[in-house]
Amino acid sequence: MLDQIKGLHHVTSMAGNARTNNSFFTDTLGLRRVKKTVNFDAPDVYHLYYGDEIGTPGSVMTYFPFPHMAKGRPGTGEVGTTVFSVPEGSLGFWGERLAAKGSLELKTDEAFGEKRLQFFGPDGDGFALSEVRDDARPSWTGNGVSEDHAIRGFHSASLRLRDEGATAELLKFMGYQEVDRRDGVVRLAVPGGNGADVIDIETMPNIASAHLGAGSVHHIAFAVENREKQLEVRKALMGTGYQVTPVIDRDYFWAIYFRTPGGVLFEVATNEPGFDRDEDTAHLGEALKLPDQHAHLRSYLEEHLEKLEG
Ligand code: ZN
Repeated sequence: MLDQIKGLHHVTSMAGNARTNNSFFTDTLGLRRVKKTVNFDAPDVYHLYYGDEIGTPGSVMTYFPFPHMAKGRPGTGEVGTTVFSVPEGSLGFWGERLAAKGSLELKTDEAFGEKRLQFFGPDGDGFALSEVRDDARPSWTGNGVSEDHAIRGFHSASLRLRDEGATAELLKFMGYQEVDRRDGVVRLAVPGGNGADVIDIETMPNIASAHLGAGSVHHIAFAVENREKQLEVRKALMGTGYQVTPVIDRDYFWAIYFRTPGGVLFEVATNEPGFDRDEDTAHLGEALKLPDQHAHLRSYLEEHLEKLEG
C-alpha cells in the first residue's frame, strides 16, 4: 500500500462560459482566482484556477471554459459531488447567500453525521458545502466572505460508479482506508492527509454512463509532495497493471494521469512548485500566464479570450 498520497490536490471541470464561471467562484463562493492561464493541450481556451490565498493543494478547483459547450449528462463513471469544507454553523449564511445570488434547488441534509448544503454550479455542476469542526486550514477572505464562513478547501469528492469494487481496491492501494459505509455510500479517507482527505463512492448499478460536457468533472487529482514521490506512485501503479502517462509539466505542478476501473480519470500531481512560481502572491491570478510552448500566441489569445472581472 502506498503512503505518498496526501488527499486531493485539485478538481478540474468543464464550463460553458468563462465570465459566469469566474464570477461564481470568486464573487459567490468567495474563492481566490490563483491562476489565469490556458488549457496547455488546447490553448484557445482558458484554464482557470480558484482556491485559497496561494492555491494550496487540496483547495484548488479548476475549470476549462469552452464557449457554447453543451451541458454534460450526469451518470456513472464520473465525480458526482465535489464538497467544500466550511466552519460549523455557517450553512445558514451559505444558504441565504446562494439563494440571493440566484442558486435554485438548494438542499440541506446530513452525510455521515455532517451537516451539508447541496447546490449546483452555473452549468449544473454538483457541489456541496459540509460543516467541519476545527478545520485548521487557512481561508481566503479577500472576496468578502468572512473567516467565520469561508471555505477551507475541499472536504471530499464523491464518485458515482456502477460497481465500487475495483475502484475501492485501487483507492486502498493508493493509501485510503474505508472509514464508514451508510445508505449505499462507502467513505474512504487517507490518514495524515492535507484536509481534503475523503472520497465517497456511491454505487448505482442501474444508471447509465455520464456524458462529459459543461458542468462535468474532467478529472480529480491527488496530491504528492514532490516529483520523487510521484515517480514512486507511478512505478507502483504501473506495477499493478495501470496505464499511466509519462510525467507532464503543468508549470505549477507535475502531473501523471490514469483511467480508473470505474471510468473516472485520476491524476497524481505534485505540491511543487506551486502557483507563486511566476507571480507574486499579492497578484496571483491577475495576469494571463502562458506556458513557454504557447507564449507566441499571446497577442492572439489576449484579443480572443473573454475578458474576466478581477
Ligand atoms: Zn489536473
